[in-house]
Amino acid sequence: MLKAALFDLDDTLSDHSWSSRCGVEALGTRWPELRRQSLDALTALHLSILNQFHQEILAGRETAESARPKRYRAFLTQGGMNPTEPMVAQAMAWYQEAYAANRRAVPGAREVLALLRGRKVTTAVLTNHHDVQEQWSKIEECGIAELVDHLFVSAQIGFTKPDPRAFRHVMQTLDVLPDEAVMIGDSLAADIEGADRAGIRSIWLNRTGSVSIPPPSAVTVTSLAPAQAVLDLIGGMAF
Ligand SMILES: [Mg+2]
Repeated sequence: MLKAALFDLDDTLSDHSWSSRCGVEALGTRWPELRRQSLDALTALHLSILNQFHQEILAGRETAESARPKRYRAFLTQGGMNPTEPMVAQAMAWYQEAYAANRRAVPGAREVLALLRGRKVTTAVLTNHHDVQEQWSKIEECGIAELVDHLFVSAQIGFTKPDPRAFRHVMQTLDVLPDEAVMIGDSLAADIEGADRAGIRSIWLNRTGSVSIPPPSAVTVTSLAPAQAVLDLIGGMAF
């Protein structure tokens, strides 16, 4: 019997890619030099740099504060500019303003959470991040806070996905067994492989058309909409 549904946050519930694209677009609007690349290419470049620094922060080799200016400097430089310190600071401000103004939930995410709530399934977010408050703010700004029962942030629990201890910590806290839970996430390496190692079945949200192959314990969806189809999929999994 399904008792708990675990969700990744960024690009599973919170549409990080969309907000990030809006942030990059805001920089391109101000600096024509950046527009020598398409918005798609610039967004991919930015996400790649962001993910590199995210890994450095999770590994403790950078702090969020030390990484932030380096991240924007790398983006502007690789975007074809020769940024000064004030330009890096300006990029941070313009990006973050546009990112925050364009926060939204992943299409279907709110409806999936609402259907789970209707079935009295506990919902929990398990996210790799250094800042609990920042992750909670995302949940609130996406308008899904009342549908999320628990938030587990790697920096707080001491384990980072795909370490199975991160998943076991959640299981123990919620008092559920692995076969009473499902993990839903967009990262094959962190969410899906991690859940597999903890004995938890999963749904891989593959919105980007990745051709990677998930483990047999996972099923793949390309969208959380329509939500009922995702619920039917969860209900059809052999728990
Ligand atoms: Mg994610």
